[in-house]
Amino acid sequence: MTAGYELTAEQQDILRTIRDFVDRDVLPNVSHYDHNDEFPTPLVETMKELGLFGTTIPEEYGGLGLDLMTYSLIVKELSRGWISLSGIINTHFIASFMIKTFGTAEQKDRLLPRMARGDVRSAFSMTEPHAGSDVQAIRTRAVLDGDDYVVNGQKMWVTNGLRAGIVMLLAVTDPSAEPRHRGMTTFIVEKEPEVSDLPGLTIPPPLKKLGYKGVESTELVFEDFRTPASSILGGPDQTGVGFKQFMAGIELGRVNIAARALGIAELALENAIRYAQEREAFGKPISQHQLIQAKIAQMATKIRAAELLLLDAAARKNTGERADMEAGMAKLFATEIAEEVALDAMRIHGGYGYSQEYPIERLYRDAPLLLIGEGSNEIQQLLIARRLFERHKI
Ligand SMILES: Cc1cc2nc3c(=O)[nH]c(=O)nc-3n(C[C@H](O)[C@H](O)[C@H](O)COP(=O)(O)OP(=O)(O)OC[C@H]3O[C@@H](n4cnc5c(N)ncnc54)[C@H](O)[C@@H]3O)c2cc1C
Repeated sequence: MTAGYELTAEQQDILRTIRDFVDRDVLPNVSHYDHNDEFPTPLVETMKELGLFGTTIPEEYGGLGLDLMTYSLIVKELSRGWISLSGIINTHFIASFMIKTFGTAEQKDRLLPRMARGDVRSAFSMTEPHAGSDVQAIRTRAVLDGDDYVVNGQKMWVTNGLRAGIVMLLAVTDPSAEPRHRGMTTFIVEKEPEVSDLPGLTIPPPLKKLGYKGVESTELVFEDFRTPASSILGGPDQTGVGFKQFMAGIELGRVNIAARALGIAELALENAIRYAQEREAFGKPISQHQLIQAKIAQMATKIRAAELLLLDAAARKNTGERADMEAGMAKLFATEIAEEVALDAMRIHGGYGYSQEYPIERLYRDAPLLLIGEGSNEIQQLLIARRLFERHKI
């Protein structure tokens, strides 16, 4: 389904390859990985071979150099298999976008080729135990000491925090700055992957979660951790612009979340359509009961509308124009409907929807994360309204 946006033959080929991968390798195995909360190493290896870690990294750095629309449709296809697969590449994608957009030539030349191959994976860390939505309230401090910055503070909910070799870290370098965001700086922290006890950096065991299994979400505890001034994104003089760099990254993250929501909703609908034709009640398939038909019609219509919003946001962001309102609308709508569609699919499956035998209970556990992550839906609404009042000021 392309919702009226023309896809090139190349885009169609790529998406078909991902769908084949999902149908062949992911869907038959996802229940095992999800219920055991196991990192899907073989699937990640295939994703590397497919070049997915370099999806939007320019070809000159060894990536596929694909546009944002293709990327978002890839994320949708992967998420139709399992949102944790898109979680594994999302923070990597945001990090590579930030380095591509704001990095020095040295940072790009050294890091992007390794990132494109998936040899090194990346995390994106701004949230702290006391501050999520209110990013400007973060407290992690980085203080210049000779050629290094010394970092102290605690980060929370770092997706890929343990396995990442690169962490895009937002820290306060000037606590007296007004507004506060002008005192924030992005560091490209390079660390050894899969080691939880590094000099100055401790990574406690992964946080236990309702869903979004298999991919780790961790805390990062910095105690006199040293990182060179040259690790500042864009070079040592680029202090005070970290907040803006992170917001640019998260705008893309919102398109990604909308795409993930669509993947969940599509799989829920597919299963509901199939099950409704197989299951009989009162002498006929439940697909012939009109209340079930109404549910299916509502689910499909919501999905179609969400897909149009997603493609609209991706197309606008592709042009380089400001797209925070469009990305916010896509994120808000697609994630709200994903939760509703997952629940409707569960109702259609009756008791079996609640059983681990079917994928619906997983979709139902995975969907709510998307209401919260990359800026909660309450925050999206504030942002959309703010932009509207700016555009239509009297
Ligand atoms: C599984 C998972 C993975 C994550 N991965 C990452 C990651 O990789 N990197 C990262 O940096 N963060 C990550 N996060 C953090 C995520 O971005 C935050 O949880 C999210 O931004 C919300 O912040 P919070 O949890 O502190 O909630 P709070 O900000 O405390 O919000 C609590 C409630 O208050 C509402 N609220 C807050 N402010 C307002 C307001 N002004 N008006 C109305 N309502 C408001 C919120 O919408 C929410 O309903 C992850 C979170 C989860 C659960």
